[in-house]
Amino acid sequence: MTIELSVSTDERLSVLDVTDRVAEALPADADGTATVFVPHTTAAVTVNEGESRLLGDIETGLSELVADEGWAHDRIDDNADAHLRATLVGPNVTVPVSDGDLAMGTWQSILFVECDGPRTRSLEVHVD
Ligand code: ZN
Repeated sequence: MTIELSVSTDERLSVLDVTDRVAEALPADADGTATVFVPHTTAAVTVNEGESRLLGDIETGLSELVADEGWAHDRIDDNADAHLRATLVGPNVTVPVSDGDLAMGTWQSILFVECDGPRTRSLEVHVD
C-alpha cells in the first residue's frame, strides 16, 4: 500500500524531521518495511538524528559541499545546486516496520531534505 504525505517548507534549503508523520500514517497492523520515497528531483530523504542543531548543520554542510552557482544546468532553470544536493542525499530510505511502528534506532529519525524550496512536496510511504 502507498500513503502520500504532503511536506511544506519555508526556506530554500531545509531539513525537516518527518518521523512522527510517517509513523502516524502506518496502518496499526503493518509489519515488514516502509520505503519512504521522494518523487522529486530537488528534494531528498535520509535517516539520521533529528536534533535541531544537527538539522541546521546538515543544511550548512550541503550548502558548503555544493557551490550555489556556476553549473551547466543553471542555463535551463537556475537550480543545479538543488539537484546536486538532492543527489548527494538520495530519493528514498527503507525502514523496518514492526506492529505498526517504525523500528529504528533510538537516535534515528527520518529527515526530509528540501533543496529548492520554499514549496509543498509529496512524500510517498510504500508499506510492504
Ligand atoms: Zn532544474
